Amino acid sequence: MASIFTKIIQGKIPCESIVETDSEIAFLDINPCSHGHTLCIPKREVARLEDLPPEDAAALMGFMQRVAAAVSRAFDGTDYNLMLNNGVNAGQEVPHIHFHVIPRKPGSSRPFKSREPYGEGEMAAVGERIRACLD
Ligand code: AMP
Repeated sequence: MASIFTKIIQGKIPCESIVETDSEIAFLDINPCSHGHTLCIPKREVARLEDLPPEDAAALMGFMQRVAAAVSRAFDGTDYNLMLNNGVNAGQEVPHIHFHVIPRKPGSSRPFKSREPYGEGEMAAVGERIRACLD
């Protein structure tokens, strides 16, 4: 599905590009969580991770590794989060898969603050439920 990221890929709207290959592009997020917040996207128009062909997903992972290493080096070897908001309920606003590389400073807010502990026997049941859905 075409989105604002399609226009970025096509060069129809500007971005602060970091690096581009035949199949991926990385550019700075226009509304960053921290300076250096970078988006890594495949050029294929796909909204969700599971819709990306496995070979594209593998290539994207290698691309992200390269970009994330550069972001870290550029900010004194900083730590970072690598995040995917996969779907509206996960906070995805742009329906074109993109991983966020977010540099973190000491003391910056931690992700995964909200937890939902399992009750007795629930963990095994949830594990079984997910295993039954594997292809
Ligand atoms: P998400 O909520 O995971 O879909 O994230 C979408 C991200 O895209 C947000 O962090 C936005 O700030 C960013 N964004 C939206 N439009 C642009 C743009 N034209 N250039 C750079 N980043 C953008």
